[in-house]
Amino acid sequence: MANRIPRVPVREQDPKVRATNFEEVCYGYNKEEALLEASRCLNCKNPRCMTACPVGLQIPRFIAELAQGNIEGAAAVIAEDSSLPAVCGRVCPQETQCEGSCVLGVKGEPVAIGKLERFVADYSRELAGSSPLETSGCAGPLPSGDGPLPLTMPRVARFPEGTASQSPRQKVAVIGSGPAGLACASDLAKWGYDVTIFEALHKAGGVLEYGIPEFRLPKDKVLKHEIEEVRRLGVKIETNVIIGRTVTIDSLMDKEGFKAVFIGTGAGLPKFMGIPGENYNGVFSANEFLTRNNLMKAWREDYLTPIHAGKKVCVVGGGNVAMDAARTALRLGAEVHIVYRRTEAELPARREEVHHASEEGIIFDMLTNPVEVIGDERGWVKALKCVKMELGEPDESGRRSPVPIEGSEFEIPTETVIMALGTSPNPLISKTTKGLEITRRGCLVATEEGATTRPGVFAGGDAVTGAATVILAMGAGRTAAKAIDAYLKQN
Ligand code: FAD
Repeated sequence: MANRIPRVPVREQDPKVRATNFEEVCYGYNKEEALLEASRCLNCKNPRCMTACPVGLQIPRFIAELAQGNIEGAAAVIAEDSSLPAVCGRVCPQETQCEGSCVLGVKGEPVAIGKLERFVADYSRELAGSSPLETSGCAGPLPSGDGPLPLTMPRVARFPEGTASQSPRQKVAVIGSGPAGLACASDLAKWGYDVTIFEALHKAGGVLEYGIPEFRLPKDKVLKHEIEEVRRLGVKIETNVIIGRTVTIDSLMDKEGFKAVFIGTGAGLPKFMGIPGENYNGVFSANEFLTRNNLMKAWREDYLTPIHAGKKVCVVGGGNVAMDAARTALRLGAEVHIVYRRTEAELPARREEVHHASEEGIIFDMLTNPVEVIGDERGWVKALKCVKMELGEPDESGRRSPVPIEGSEFEIPTETVIMALGTSPNPLISKTTKGLEITRRGCLVATEEGATTRPGVFAGGDAVTGAATVILAMGAGRTAAKAIDAYLKQN
């Protein structure tokens, strides 16, 4: 019986080796492994996995195609709902979404939906490409005996019934090229709209490009390809355009003929602790540290934009961003400490990320809270002064709140401090656009469909929810695309 087959394990780079390079940690499945894993799916009549996916990926359908060896068919099914399958197969928190709802997970191990999605996307891309297996940092070698199939990634998916627009090509502006913007733009382009994405940075992708490190999401091989697929749908991407500075939403709508706007500008404004010494050289926000590495390629010797991490780095925080910053600093050659005020049980990061980080040699200083950054006479960081904590009563989040232990202050000598304490939306757009309301936390006010308080302007992703996930941002982008389509048909 299909569900008697144990979940197929996935191959990974050895922790000691990968701690010294930026190549991808996880190799993904080969064809044989993927087909075996696909055969475990029970093809449920009421697929809970699908309901749990914010973009409504038709999971049992694509897995059924894959189980029959029809990888092209599987890719076509995925393309109906997602333009970023190789990304989502790598970075989605499947354990709390599709896989978290898989029936097989009740008594055993759920189907490895994410790894299967990744396999289909990678296999299709590699066979469609000119030199599929030459570049490092992506899926492991395909099994020998795999003859090349006449396979290309489907470029334009089927239009959902009733949504294809009859109107002439009306112009829609999408602000931000992260997952929310890309998903919104893809759907609108499929329905015939003339879509332009405006991106502040010099490269498209949002956090996928500047935040998530190369060793979790290869940029040139994986991300670039999926963004190209969005371009091939007809979406124009204009980089180096800061909406609110280069041009405003008002002028896009009043002077440049855009009939609707989608704001997917994310939540890129970092938080700091407000403790003394945070202005010393050597204190970074995780966003800056990761941007310098990922977008400005500080880790590559052939780039002239290096970063000084030093011999010892303290990363403050316990989420996924903290893990990414810590593992990046480790690969730059530093001894890295995660400084977190609660215990390991409360770490908000994905278990898999914590596991990978500790396997690679990250040191976890739990129940520890910084109170001051100490600098030298030249203004550079030399230590992080901390206090020991203990857990008290649960706070409003339900987690036991950390309480300082009096007299327990101590110093951790360090050259670099990276603050990974969360982010909020940048206020630039809301400050420069008439009629856009924001919440107390600085997020844009929007309905479930994505309509903001300004007619014709829609929003979704982290700009509305605050820092969340790739797939939630994509789901919000797709929902808003439907609302924009409906709005433009009425106006
Ligand atoms: P973003 O991805 O932030 O994209 C917004 C884009 O808008 C950016 O490119 C920005 O430059 C652009 N922009 C902003 N202002 C303007 C302007 N005024 N004009 C023009 N352009 C503008 N989620 C997961 O699901 N899995 C993970 O493993 C994961 N890891 C993460 C690791 C890190 C380091 C970080 C920071 C986040 C991670 N997340 C992860 C969260 C996830 O990446 C975000 O929730 C998601 O990217 C949000 O998508 P978005 O499109 O709303 O915004």
